Amino acid sequence: MDLRKYIRDIPDFPQKGILFRDLTPLMGDKDAFNYTVKEIADHFRTFHVDKVAAIEARGFIFGAPIAKELGAGFVPIRKPGKLPYEVVRKEFQLEYGMSILELHKDAFKKGERVLMIDDLLATGGTALAASELVESLGAEIVGWGFVVILKNLKGEEKIGKYHIFSLVNFD
Ligand code: AMP
Repeated sequence: MDLRKYIRDIPDFPQKGILFRDLTPLMGDKDAFNYTVKEIADHFRTFHVDKVAAIEARGFIFGAPIAKELGAGFVPIRKPGKLPYEVVRKEFQLEYGMSILELHKDAFKKGERVLMIDDLLATGGTALAASELVESLGAEIVGWGFVVILKNLKGEEKIGKYHIFSLVNFD
């Protein structure tokens, strides 16, 4: 299935110079959404995933149904101040400015096998920070799944030590 026709380009959003890849048409189409979730889950079906960890907010939309498909648990990685219990946190560089991600410190048992999910890989700063948080708790990352990778931003180099899977690549 060609998912590109369900991805809408929005120039200069949320800031000038960014070409935003809007996945809401894909999410809203029953065939495209279910295909996306199933394809990513199928790719990782033999990886023995204990938990899926996904990044707020668009990562949750894909991560939770992928966890359900795999019979895995779900762990949210969130923006600061959202998680109610004790957290580990990581500050990191975005294309413009800094950002912070947090994870409950009891989210994983040592050695648990974790599939990481986000909607889109751009520079890889977010994915690298999330990976470091998960590994800091002793869990093992079995791979990263994205709906979209923006190849020219070279995010794959930042998380090159992990198995990476995506359904749509833009140059
Ligand atoms: P990065 O840390 O640069 O890899 O940015 C990845 C995060 O920012 C993902 O969670 C995406 O949802 C979001 N993002 C970055 N660039 C774009 C873009 N051009 N279109 C849509 N989302 C983006």
